Amino acid sequence: MEVKCPICGRTMESGRVFGKGLLWSPKEHKWTVLAGKDDVSLYQGEFPEAWICKTCRRVVLHY
Ligand SMILES: [Zn+2]
Repeated sequence: MEVKCPICGRTMESGRVFGKGLLWSPKEHKWTVLAGKDDVSLYQGEFPEAWICKTCRRVVLHY
């Protein structure tokens, strides 16, 4: 699967993100890293596939 960087449009490099405690949250600040109802745990049994643009320092992640 080819993924284009949403910022510059270059083809992104594929790989995985390693880490079990990663959490996406719409909040600016959190008091705990436990997932709340609007939060998404990015580790769900396996390390997620991700694409990186090293020019823009952006990652697209498939959780
Ligand atoms: Zn880019």
